[in-house]
Amino acid sequence: MTTPWRRRYAKRTQQMMSSIIREILKITQQPDVISFAGGLPAPESFPVAEIARAPQHILETTGTRSLQYSPTEGYLPLRKLIVEKMARFGVTASEDNILITTGSQQALDLIGKVLIDPGDVILCEAPTYLGALQAWMAYEAQYVTVPTDADGMQVDFVEAILKKRKIKFIYALPNFQNPGGTTISGARREKLVALADRYNVPIIEDDPYAELRFEGEHIPPLLALDEKRQQLKDPDCEHFDCGNVIYTSTFSKTLAPGLRLGWIVAPREVTFKLVQAKQGADLHSSTFDQYVAYEVMSPEGFMANHVGKIQKMYKERRDAMLAAMEKFFPAGVQWTRPQGGLFLWVTLPVGINATAILPEAVMDKVAFVPGAPFFPPTIEARGKTSKKKLPAGHNTMRLNFSNASVEEINLGIERLGGVIAKAIAAQKIRIRRKRKK
Ligand code: PMP
Repeated sequence: MTTPWRRRYAKRTQQMMSSIIREILKITQQPDVISFAGGLPAPESFPVAEIARAPQHILETTGTRSLQYSPTEGYLPLRKLIVEKMARFGVTASEDNILITTGSQQALDLIGKVLIDPGDVILCEAPTYLGALQAWMAYEAQYVTVPTDADGMQVDFVEAILKKRKIKFIYALPNFQNPGGTTISGARREKLVALADRYNVPIIEDDPYAELRFEGEHIPPLLALDEKRQQLKDPDCEHFDCGNVIYTSTFSKTLAPGLRLGWIVAPREVTFKLVQAKQGADLHSSTFDQYVAYEVMSPEGFMANHVGKIQKMYKERRDAMLAAMEKFFPAGVQWTRPQGGLFLWVTLPVGINATAILPEAVMDKVAFVPGAPFFPPTIEARGKTSKKKLPAGHNTMRLNFSNASVEEINLGIERLGGVIAKAIAAQKIRIRRKRKK
């Protein structure tokens, strides 16, 4: 049945899409399916006892304030805590640079609302975070991409694009990228910040996983590198007002995603604008949740200890997944080796379509997310879609290792290895038949 509603939607909503991941999750959430599809943190890692204790204490000590409307910028003690956190990353922000958001997903949306005009071109990695594409499609953004490798975004491709096109901003995922699990190397970060500065193009740095490094050395965020650079250029510049990077992160991965709390670090001027945008969206993030998060995180040493436990758990799970893939995946399959975060990325032989084998995998009680949707539709590719050409990333998949136990990981990867082996064998038969013809 056709309803009149389709004709009533604004033009910009025509580009909106529902996240394929959410659609896939619906299929994969049968209880006996081992799912590597979602991006869920381990529920065992949530500080349940501390969260349970917090409300009573908050209501006794702050009265009804935690239940009241509150400033859009966010709860000041929580913003101060973020200032300290950022200082450990080499960033000298003040509270005026911090805006608390309803998850970092809202940060991405607000950034889009404030910066993107219809048709603006965003330079991003391929693959990149689907949620950002989803947020910015609604503002009618267009994309150009640079590929990634083991050292993250291949920054060498960036300058040619900046020379050729007007780019509104560069979207970068510095640590343990969702979906690829890759990290942008220190040298590439320096180069990216320098290029962005030279061509006067801002960077949006989306960094939810920085604290989840369980191996290797911490690498300073683009924000810290840019701050140093801008201070050399203009020592009087304060509050990042000359800065070229907007940074966003979240408590979803270190505390609990259900609290829906993230934050933005930005030049003061941009923070004011984002505050206006947020006022139109939700007035402010939940006062109560902000108080709870602060109450849980403020005791000295709590977060270091808590995050240490998560890192240990995720390292064990990543190790289990890598070892199982080594054992059960057939020859010709490759994967990334993330040093933190929640995901790794698998590349099947060319021609094996990950989307096509998903139903079979689900029948065998294992699930993953096919990689193709993480490749944005680019300006260059527009109008050039050919039925014969395989879509970018057709032979890739994202696997989440944070949400399954070591035993489930072993069993799930064994099942998935079987599904992939069958697909490779079927492809060989097809090729042989074609040659005979
Ligand atoms: N950015 C990236 C790269 C993510 O992976 C996620 C979560 N999947 C988000 C932003 C949004 O997270 P949240 O809204 O829970 O902070």
